Amino acid sequence: MGGSFFCYKLEKRHWNHNIFILNEEEEKMKIIMLGAPGAGKGTQAKKIAGKYGIPHISTGDIFRANIKGGTELGMRAKSYMDQGQLVPDDVTIGMLLDRISEADCQNGYVLDGFPRTIPQAESLTEALAKRGEKMDFAVDVDVPDEAIVTRMGGRRACLKCGATYHVAFNPPKTEGVCDNCQDNLVLREDDKPETVQKRLSVYHDQTQPLIEYYKGQGILVTVDGTKELNQVFQDIVAVLEA
Ligand code: ADP
Ligand code: ADP
Ligand code: ZN
Repeated sequence: MGGSFFCYKLEKRHWNHNIFILNEEEEKMKIIMLGAPGAGKGTQAKKIAGKYGIPHISTGDIFRANIKGGTELGMRAKSYMDQGQLVPDDVTIGMLLDRISEADCQNGYVLDGFPRTIPQAESLTEALAKRGEKMDFAVDVDVPDEAIVTRMGGRRACLKCGATYHVAFNPPKTEGVCDNCQDNLVLREDDKPETVQKRLSVYHDQTQPLIEYYKGQGILVTVDGTKELNQVFQDIVAVLEA
């Protein structure tokens, strides 16, 4: 797992410098998933994490786990999430920066649902710069709003392990039951149509500007997220390994 990618990096380094120098930073693979709610960020992030052996970090999953566990963080996040609003930056940024400092992040990670605001992106850039690091790719999974509404209505989520399914496009083996952990699947409260509309408008106002931000950093790649999900994955792998 991950072999082909890291081999590629070594080959590229060899080609560039004609000498093998072990540079820890180059071994890392740090990816941001951008895109509207329901674009398929989580679906693709899990596949990327599996292929390259790096953790999938979803801020939404972390919040939902905290809500389920009844923590103070969960209680703070819940009212915003239920209304389709963003959890405030002062809660979210510290939580994410702590998470990427954990030991399992040393070979990189794929961020799903963070950053969602310009201040979040700036905090991430700054925190990484202090360690001499930067993100490698921001992958924008592009899906128009019309398609999002269909996807969200059919999404079913496992609140135990974070897996997501779609009743038509990606069904579980047994209806209503998670393939990974056998927990019951649910229609998330915030996936109901009124809240989805709200989340889409929050996305356009606060998150879409990140596309320009990462274009400016020279790390933006865009994939057509309306294709079949395995095809989207192939397109992503092709750009990561180009
Ligand atoms: P989706 O996968 O549909 O985009 P997420 O699971 O990523 O949804 O997020 C669900 C909710 O959690 C968001 O609507 C928001 O309330 C909150 N949330 C998740 N990530 C962030 C973030 N980076 N900043 C603020 N709020 C967040
Ligand atoms: P996000 O994390 O961006 O909110 P998800 O990965 O949870 O999005 O996907 C939203 C819904 O759409 C899920 O039900 C998922 O199974 C489904 N889905 C994901 N990618 C595709 C695709 N390429 N085509 C059709 N449905 C998809
Ligand atoms: Zn599960």
